[in-house]
Amino acid sequence: MHPSAKLEAFLANSSHLQTPFVVVDTDVVAQRYDALQAALPMADLFYAVKANPGRPVLDTLIARGSFFDVASVGEIDLCLNAGVTPDRISYGNTIKKRGHVEYAYDQGVRLFAFDAEPELDKLSQAAPEATVFCRVLCDGKGAEWPLSRKFGCDPDEAERLLHLAADRGLKVGVSFHVGSQQGNVEAWDAALEIAARLARSLMGRTEPVRLDVVNVGGGFPGIYQREMPSIEKYGEAIAASLARHFGPLYGDYLPRIIAEPGRYLVADAGVLRTEVVLVSRKHEMDEKRWVYLDCGKFSGLAETMEEAIRYRFRTPHDEAVENGAPTGAVIIAGPSCDSADVLYEKTDYRMPIALAEGDFIDIISTGAYTTTYSSVGFNGFAPLKDYYI
Ligand SMILES: *Cc1c(COP(=O)(O)O)cnc(C)c1O
Repeated sequence: MHPSAKLEAFLANSSHLQTPFVVVDTDVVAQRYDALQAALPMADLFYAVKANPGRPVLDTLIARGSFFDVASVGEIDLCLNAGVTPDRISYGNTIKKRGHVEYAYDQGVRLFAFDAEPELDKLSQAAPEATVFCRVLCDGKGAEWPLSRKFGCDPDEAERLLHLAADRGLKVGVSFHVGSQQGNVEAWDAALEIAARLARSLMGRTEPVRLDVVNVGGGFPGIYQREMPSIEKYGEAIAASLARHFGPLYGDYLPRIIAEPGRYLVADAGVLRTEVVLVSRKHEMDEKRWVYLDCGKFSGLAETMEEAIRYRFRTPHDEAVENGAPTGAVIIAGPSCDSADVLYEKTDYRMPIALAEGDFIDIISTGAYTTTYSSVGFNGFAPLKDYYI
């Protein structure tokens, strides 16, 4: 997976631009949306806005008929201002201030997540006519950025809460997130089995209640160092799991299926350009060089935390390396005065021996979780600049 021709043309003509910056090709976003919709024809796609809230990204997805998953009133306003109607917005954060639920409900938002009784209380008071979906815990196994533990509740607790929600006249659903950058296409199966079990439990009430929504979350991958299955494989596995677990329950009828893709839609649409500030050794005999870039953990590369997401780097010397020029092991770090600002130390990265101050390095597939992960100005470094083409 190489950057698009449009990205390459932009990068070829951008030596005058201040680094670091990210450039995103919205045509790739549109292609990804179409590919995912084709792979998951049964699902409404709610773009997880946090992955890249850039206005041109939103505009591109609005034009495709996308729905939107938001986590805050800021993201609600962003979507509404871009022209998204409130019936296309899902408030997917399980942790919401009461006033923010009221605001969302006033604006017309009718889909809300929860994973605990006090949050359900908030929703039944502040969003009485809404559909509320209960997030169940997932272990995040197989994911490079797991998201486990903080969100979701035990399936037994979910069952209790869904009955409680139904008692209060709310429409109910189930959601889960199998972990971001999920490499195992079967990861959805166990959660869908639980969702079907919860559906059956609701159907077993004296006055049966139908599960309104099954939200299969995100987790669809971008292309970093590791190869990933094609999006079709994800679609086939999810369709098979839905048929297996929900087929006997509903016959041909399924609850509304929604998905919340973030990374998959934008990651490969972006390239982050950074400049080498310093190449050094801690001792002249050290084999490993330190490569300091003008972009680090606090300027957009937060997902290098614990070296979870392993980006691909491109240097001006790669062609020479292909023709035999030597490379050496490196530790890659950001420019700030925080010792946590090391991107990769344990992961085995190699860079050309010829790498020098002033070289541009392009970090591939950086359209997701970069622009807004940049601090407002730690150490006086400006936030990551973003361009959309
Ligand atoms: C972040 C997030 C997503 C998007 O996840 P990806 O792995 O980027 O697809 C979806 N749903 C929720 C609730 C999220 O918090």
